[in-house]
Amino acid sequence: MKEKNNDTAFFGQPKGLSTLFFTEMWERFSYYGMRAILLFYMYYAVSKGGLGMNQTTAASVMSIYGSLVYLSNIVGGWLSDRVWGPRKTVFIGGVLIMFGHIVLSLPMGLIALYASIALIVAGTGLLKPNVSDMVGGLYSENDRRRDAGFSMFVFGINLGSAISPILVPWAANGFGIHMFGNEMNFHAGFSLAAIGMFFGLMQYYFGGKKYLSNDSLLPTDPIDHDSLIKILKKSAVAVIAVIVLLVIMAACGQLNIANVILLITIVAILLPIYLFVVMLRSKKVTKIEHSRVLAYIPLFIAAAVFWGIEESGSVVLALFAQERTVLHIGSWHFAAANFQTLNPLFIMILTPFFVWLWSKWKKQPSAAGKFSWGLIFAGLSYVVMAVPGLLYGTAGRVSPFWLVGSWFIVEIGEMLISPIGLSVTTKLAPAAYSSQMMSMWFLADAAGQAINSQIVKYFSTGTEIQYFLIIGGVSILLGLLMFFLVKKIDGLMAGVH
Ligand code: ASP
Repeated sequence: MKEKNNDTAFFGQPKGLSTLFFTEMWERFSYYGMRAILLFYMYYAVSKGGLGMNQTTAASVMSIYGSLVYLSNIVGGWLSDRVWGPRKTVFIGGVLIMFGHIVLSLPMGLIALYASIALIVAGTGLLKPNVSDMVGGLYSENDRRRDAGFSMFVFGINLGSAISPILVPWAANGFGIHMFGNEMNFHAGFSLAAIGMFFGLMQYYFGGKKYLSNDSLLPTDPIDHDSLIKILKKSAVAVIAVIVLLVIMAACGQLNIANVILLITIVAILLPIYLFVVMLRSKKVTKIEHSRVLAYIPLFIAAAVFWGIEESGSVVLALFAQERTVLHIGSWHFAAANFQTLNPLFIMILTPFFVWLWSKWKKQPSAAGKFSWGLIFAGLSYVVMAVPGLLYGTAGRVSPFWLVGSWFIVEIGEMLISPIGLSVTTKLAPAAYSSQMMSMWFLADAAGQAINSQIVKYFSTGTEIQYFLIIGGVSILLGLLMFFLVKKIDGLMAGVH
């Protein structure tokens, strides 16, 4: 423990933070780089290097894919706690992710797309919750560097996420030398994502051996043989039930992408409801903890709505960039996919300001108050996007600054929701369910994107004004409603700030 506290080799932080920082930086590099071009890969015509899918189906797949990536965290957290320990779980996850990108880099069409989604969903579920968990494990309970350590880690996430939407589309576009003529070669882009994950894995493997504690090789709550058999039996029943359901759907002629997406949407909404009920009814949860779980429900709903809007940046705003935006400023030309860099870029710019603000502002709003504002900013970022259509009609192209402005506003909202939510989640967690609560945080994002998978179908140039106004309006209204609940929620939090 002593050694843990004395290690200040990485900007005053333990050297293990550098290993985890670069692992997550490269993993997010590969994920967001891939997503920046995936939408276009799916719906571009085959003659342009795409898969020729219907555009609305492609948008739906993007959202449900994003949802699954966070849904699978539940399994990854469990496997680490009970079977493999975080260090090994993260490594296995990274390998699956790398293969997911390699599969997409091969010209194998739809089969490769689905195989890649399966690999990356499984891999991210194993990697993402556990790499963050290990960051917490670098510090003893009262190490004052903990918050700063997490801020640096989040910076790493956004650094990777900001670079790849520039580099990956550049590779897909022929490296600036028209290597593939005027066509796109999406596979070259996906290869770059795979290479990024490879770098991440290498430095994780070698850095981990040197700088991560041996505790991380062990599960915290190892499962005994009997419980394992029980779980395996239950999982087998679940898998068989899913197969039977799919067979019945096929027999009724209902087995299609839209229905599978609908099924996943239902699971993504029911799962957190089920987990809330389990926690609220559990005998292991004390009275105060019970009240805190109740306080978490409105925060969870607000987070789901927020992430729904934020995550639609790689779907709805990406379509707006491609179809409705002038893709140059003067002689500087860029690709629609490059806009994905704005979200993480604004996070990096805004973070120092918010860190300063929270340290100075004595009477700052509570977590619930900040969430209310977060919803209002998210809603405003959508309302702004209705303006160009209202002013100039929805037929032509408009200035890229509309999108820049919209992302700037939603990222102010993200500063009010993401770091606050992460920290409040750990504080409101009942002791018996601490890792489950962490997964709950990601389930809010999963639920938001699942809802997106159903509503993005209604987005088109013909409906953009209504789409942005209605969803933006709902978010603003919920934000206002939450203001009235702030006192009540603060009371239920029972001393947590
Ligand atoms: N805002 C996302 C995440 O924090 C990054 C992205 O969408 O590129 O961190």
